[in-house]
Amino acid sequence: MPVDRCVRCRSKPGKNDQYCKQCSAPIVNRCTYDGGLTGEPCTKENTEDAAFCVACGAPTTFNQTGLLQTVYAPVSTGDELEEYHHFTHRFFEP
Ligand SMILES: [Zn+2]
Ligand SMILES: [Zn+2]
Repeated sequence: MPVDRCVRCRSKPGKNDQYCKQCSAPIVNRCTYDGGLTGEPCTKENTEDAAFCVACGAPTTFNQTGLLQTVYAPVSTGDELEEYHHFTHRFFEP
């Protein structure tokens, strides 16, 4: 579900916008779980206050882009999430 107002600059997004036209923040708080190497990606759209996906526990777009601050690290709930961690470590962390 797209947010009513951009969580970053509060401008009003267009109906089918994916990113804010004023500040480039994502409009849809989507799950970032990509399915790992073999699994199905989770495309769950979360509410604007969700730091983690309610369907699979992976960080949401808003969390990962820093729009939502959380002190909590994701809880590992299974093998799929473990794969996710390996993925982020190998490619996205310095
Ligand atoms: Zn914005
Ligand atoms: Zn998810």
